[in-house]
Amino acid sequence: MKEIKCSVIQDLLPLYIDDAISDDTKTLVNKHLKTCEECKKEYEQMKETLYVPIENKATLFIQLNKQWNKKKRLLIFSSVLATILLGFAVFSFIVYYAKPIPYATDLVKIEEKADGTLVSNYFGKSHAGTYASHPIKVEIDGEMKNVSLIYYVETIANSPTSNLLGEHKSSSPIQFVLPESESVDAVYYGSFDFEDVITTEELEWEKRIQQMTLVWER
Ligand SMILES: [Zn+2]
Repeated sequence: MKEIKCSVIQDLLPLYIDDAISDDTKTLVNKHLKTCEECKKEYEQMKETLYVPIENKATLFIQLNKQWNKKKRLLIFSSVLATILLGFAVFSFIVYYAKPIPYATDLVKIEEKADGTLVSNYFGKSHAGTYASHPIKVEIDGEMKNVSLIYYVETIANSPTSNLLGEHKSSSPIQFVLPESESVDAVYYGSFDFEDVITTEELEWEKRIQQMTLVWER
């Protein structure tokens, strides 16, 4: 039988090492390796680099899998955690930085419409929200009055981008119609707690209102 070319044998070597060739071909390679030093060398080298025992192959595969899973899990975990932390940070950021805008005469103006409703005009730029109470009965200087409380808040979230947007919008004020304002005798500006408005006895507001600013009176 004619000798098979070394190049053919060497092409077959990886398959031979992997035991992925027919018995006939294997016999041919075996024969050739016995007689050819060069191919034997090639085979020995290739075996070292390619040959992984079946058992080890399996373990290697499992280990890689495990590592990958661990990595993946770690990645998922950290991204979830990051999302939670980010959410928390953003949340507390907005909550903690939603601060009442201090009263200024050119910032807030209460306007009485012909029908007696009161409109609050806010001329500032950084505005994140309006808080207004329904009229509450408060004794002021011995007189019972229907008082509305109002204040505006700004947040960091509101600036500077929204400020820029706000500037593009228009220079017209943000308007807010005070609830049930036809019956309102006075409007006070100053921060208050919503829970307070609900839970505090109306008469107790006399003291609290002293820390607020009277911005409108009928
Ligand atoms: Zn050879």
